[in-house]
Amino acid sequence: MWDRGPDPVDSVKYSVVIPVYNEQESLPALLDRLRTVLDQLDGPAEVVLVDDGSRDASYRLIVEANRRDSRFKIIQLSRNFGHQVAITAGMDVASGEAVVIMDADLQDPPELIPELVERWQQGYEVVYAIREQRDGETMFKRKTASMFYGLQRRLAEVDQPVEVGDFRLVDRRALHAFLQMRERNRYVRGMFSWIGFRQTAVPYTRASREAGYSKYPLRKMVRLAFDGVIGFSTAPLRFALAIGLLIAGGSVLYGITLIAMKLAGAGSYVPGYASLLVTITFLSGVQLIVIGMVGQYVARIYDEARARPLYLVREARGFAGDGQAADDMLWPADGHASLVHRQRVPPLPPS
Ligand code: UDP
Ligand code: MG
Repeated sequence: MWDRGPDPVDSVKYSVVIPVYNEQESLPALLDRLRTVLDQLDGPAEVVLVDDGSRDASYRLIVEANRRDSRFKIIQLSRNFGHQVAITAGMDVASGEAVVIMDADLQDPPELIPELVERWQQGYEVVYAIREQRDGETMFKRKTASMFYGLQRRLAEVDQPVEVGDFRLVDRRALHAFLQMRERNRYVRGMFSWIGFRQTAVPYTRASREAGYSKYPLRKMVRLAFDGVIGFSTAPLRFALAIGLLIAGGSVLYGITLIAMKLAGAGSYVPGYASLLVTITFLSGVQLIVIGMVGQYVARIYDEARARPLYLVREARGFAGDGQAADDMLWPADGHASLVHRQRVPPLPPS
């Protein structure tokens, strides 16, 4: 049924980056539909499948796909690093002039790619797909998502479109800019807004998941939301400062009022156990919240200070000059497994 595609060529025009985490149910249909779409494109294409530590048959399936069709290339991460890091790993090794990022679960229809390409050919450097309609997602997911996008948009220091996920096409120039940002806590869609360039949107209907279950439990969603707000705004810190000032100012006023009443001999002073307790617990609560908020930023500084590699590659398959290139990806000098932006340590001068 599958015939072997063209042999790997050095100049790939299109790359499609797909993070894969336990997607054995949707992979067969995805790979099939992708092949059809790739055949329609006006230049050589590659698909970079990033196995993000899957525990099911996903890896076996994509290795098989690579054997049958050399356009399917594989990066296997050493463990689950999370969606945002997985797509970054894929973009690091993608070599196309235009790079498309999409999910493996067919919520992002591969058939939209030609439309993204068309806008790219009109001169846009970032073409993102905007969700006009979401099929088959729970009310909870839709509501929390729209609340989050609203909040994030208000707080963020860069302008960001709403209802936009990571499904997009990026030109090599914009990608180069993006790849220079190596922050550990990543909110990729926001980072793409940050880089600027000429951007445009293509609307699409977000289908429901083809098969399998969502790999984004509430815990991961909350984490992504924090990265979206904290990575793009210091508003929570200003908010903390404002609360502190407000409460401190209020208590000074209250103190002055008490003294004035005492001097005027007005009002009968009733010792209030309840009000005391409420004040103390409220203030300790506020303090903990503020410390926690500051802690979020400190933790991210800590992450950056350790400067660990963003991810580790266990195996790479299908890339040009496999042997050496794969080794370079396995042992990246800068923790940055890139064929395109590979940095070699210069040899020592002869003594
Ligand atoms: N994914 C991943 N690593 C993870 C979680 C998810 O690579 O830790 C991939 C997953 O295989 C899919 C994409 O990221 O291709 C989006 O995940 P999912 O569809 O579960 O998220 P949802 O659409 O439910 O928000
Ligand atoms: Mg999904």
